[in-house]
Amino acid sequence: MASILQNLQQVQQRIANACAVVQRPVQTVTLLAVSKTFDADAVREAFAAGQRRFGENYVQEALEKISALADLRSQLEWHLIGPLQSNKTRVVAEAFDWVHSVDRLKVAQRLSDQRPAHLPPLQLCLQVNISGEASKSGLAPAEVAEVAHAVAALPRVQLRGLMAIPEPTADFDAQRAPHRALCELLARLQRDGLALDTLSMGMSADLEAAVAEGATLVRVGTAIFGGRPPAAAFNAP
Ligand SMILES: *Cc1c(COP(=O)(O)O)cnc(C)c1O
Repeated sequence: MASILQNLQQVQQRIANACAVVQRPVQTVTLLAVSKTFDADAVREAFAAGQRRFGENYVQEALEKISALADLRSQLEWHLIGPLQSNKTRVVAEAFDWVHSVDRLKVAQRLSDQRPAHLPPLQLCLQVNISGEASKSGLAPAEVAEVAHAVAALPRVQLRGLMAIPEPTADFDAQRAPHRALCELLARLQRDGLALDTLSMGMSADLEAAVAEGATLVRVGTAIFGGRPPAAAFNAP
């Protein structure tokens, strides 16, 4: 089995190739290693291989890992990419550097209110339901502008951009369409005067399509850490 180091190198090569195709400098794409369901030792191994930014889906699991890796805290960036309920905002505001999954103004307001004063502003993305799936969380594209302007005005958070999890499809052109739509949505907000720089899109299966359409941050789990058991096993109380 390939090591985490080898997998990371392979993912970095994929990002570099995807950047070359569309003539983007490779430094314009940040790799977020999605460590959900993997233990603190796996994160340490990725850290030893040079990886510094990690994404987590489940708040409780993440808090345990952040605590187990407290010795590395100043060198790590922790990103929450999974659903966030309002009763969990306080611990998230205290423990994370970024939240990608903000889908309501109320959650952003609570994060801003609860962000400790000694920490820099919490970095936020608004999650957009770009494929219009009934089952998916995220703001409808038509709701994004109003929420974005309100979130951008909050004092203890910094709105950085948009995040999406498009409906999976194997076809490259079909993968590109929702990524392009998210990129256009971001461009509209920028034209409206919001200083945003982050398009969080692209995962193990579609990072090339996302990079082709302007992703600045790709969230990659499986291609770095390997396959995960079904999510249900980890969501159990
Ligand atoms: C799990 C997850 C990822 C990573 O998915 P892979 O297919 O394993 O690369 C990225 N983003 C979100 C929001 C996720 O939940």
